[in-house]
Amino acid sequence: MSAGKLITVSFRLPFRFSVVRSRLVTSPSVGGLATALRSYFDNGAKNEFSSIHWIGVCDLSRKVFEKICGDENIKKDGITMHPVFQSRQMKEKFYDGFCNSVLWPLFLYFPSFAVYKKEFFEEYVTANKLMLEKILEVYEPGDTVWVHDYHWMLLPSLLREKFPDARIGFFLHIPFPSFELYRFLPKSWRTQIILGLMGADVIGFQTDEFVRHFVESVHRTLPPVVQNKSAFKINDRSTLVQSFSISIDYEKFNRACKSSEIKKNAKRIREKLKATKLILSVDRLDYTKAIYNRLEGFEMFLAQNPQYKEKVSYILLLVPTRESILKYKENKANVESLISRINGTYGTLGWAPIVYQHQSVDFKKLVALYSSADVALIVPSRDGMNLVAKEYISCRSNSDGVLILSETAGAASELLDAIIVNSNDRQEIADTLVKALNMSREDQKRRIEKMQEHIRQNDVLGWANDFLNSFDKIIEQVETEA
Ligand code: UDP
Repeated sequence: MSAGKLITVSFRLPFRFSVVRSRLVTSPSVGGLATALRSYFDNGAKNEFSSIHWIGVCDLSRKVFEKICGDENIKKDGITMHPVFQSRQMKEKFYDGFCNSVLWPLFLYFPSFAVYKKEFFEEYVTANKLMLEKILEVYEPGDTVWVHDYHWMLLPSLLREKFPDARIGFFLHIPFPSFELYRFLPKSWRTQIILGLMGADVIGFQTDEFVRHFVESVHRTLPPVVQNKSAFKINDRSTLVQSFSISIDYEKFNRACKSSEIKKNAKRIREKLKATKLILSVDRLDYTKAIYNRLEGFEMFLAQNPQYKEKVSYILLLVPTRESILKYKENKANVESLISRINGTYGTLGWAPIVYQHQSVDFKKLVALYSSADVALIVPSRDGMNLVAKEYISCRSNSDGVLILSETAGAASELLDAIIVNSNDRQEIADTLVKALNMSREDQKRRIEKMQEHIRQNDVLGWANDFLNSFDKIIEQVETEA
């Protein structure tokens, strides 16, 4: 690969910072990107690069951070973290604004939720330039810069202008929408974003479908460009566009679920709930996870199948997210009132059909939950990948359990032995729950083993190595053409 440093750039750092009794305390960041990359760094990356660096936005203000840490960077688990500080205005207009009230709803097919404000895009440009300044403090020729996700789509070109020979990769963790949606962005914004991305040597997407959408958007946004198979050629530079499906550290989850401590905890969860069958969902409380629809599906299941009264518990773990944005507040209020209605209507003294937790849990608790559940109900309306689906499969030490997955999650293109449903079809969700709860042991085993094998062979290490090795593919291609 490269003997230089690996500089990862993402919105969040891999660890969250807080201050307890005047001391800096770190805890792992929750979310697919942070979890996946930490696993990669724990495994292979350290042998490939001279050192690992991560640039992201700090949870603390500059004043608080500098009071506790001076001007030092924080090093943890072999990763040197370089915090970037954003003002309150930047948080509102860049993060809550352009990132999560324009790009997020649009790219995840909620166009009516998007709010197109000029000052949001202007702050997006400013935030990308601020990030560039931080990269320039860390970057040296020979380093590889790996930019992650929709927050930083202008960065590859900004960096390319400064360093024409830099190795720059970009990976989009969320879907890239069809051009019919992408064109909702004003022309100048959508052109700047595509040109921004084209500064990278490699642009990675989760699925082939997202690659196709991007390629069409390039052709319909820019003046005619040369495309040679999977690479675009602009100004004598080639940019490879390819899918790389993100994954998890299979062995870590699979090993953990076999430990006696986790087995004991999983058993305890089942005993506490006294239900004969457990259904589990784990999601950030995001409207794209379609939790409301899913709860209506569960309500239909209860109404149409009274034989499951006091026999089934549905553990709904919803991780707090983006709570300052109105659409998230509304979604939370709607979801919570529906949970309360379902529990009020169908519950009995000593039994609530839904066990709701609004919090995040640590790795061991999460593995115990995955291990305890007979069925995982993972039905987002859109998702770039959905790592929870892969984690559940990896934690089935006895090769039993059933995964219900929506067809619009990226993971559905890989986990072909899940039961695939449509997240808007409540009746299908209700019927599929009955089918899942009654699936034969042999059928469960056959499906789980096939999916475990797929995840084992396509783990996070493979994902990161494939992405980082693809730089060489570009070099080969250019040499062949010369
Ligand atoms: N997760 C966690 N603690 C929790 C719940 C979830 O660490 O309490 C992690 C989970 O292990 C998974 C990630 O959060 O790796 C969620 O990733 P996913 O791709 O499913 O969804 P995203 O949140 O990125 O949309």
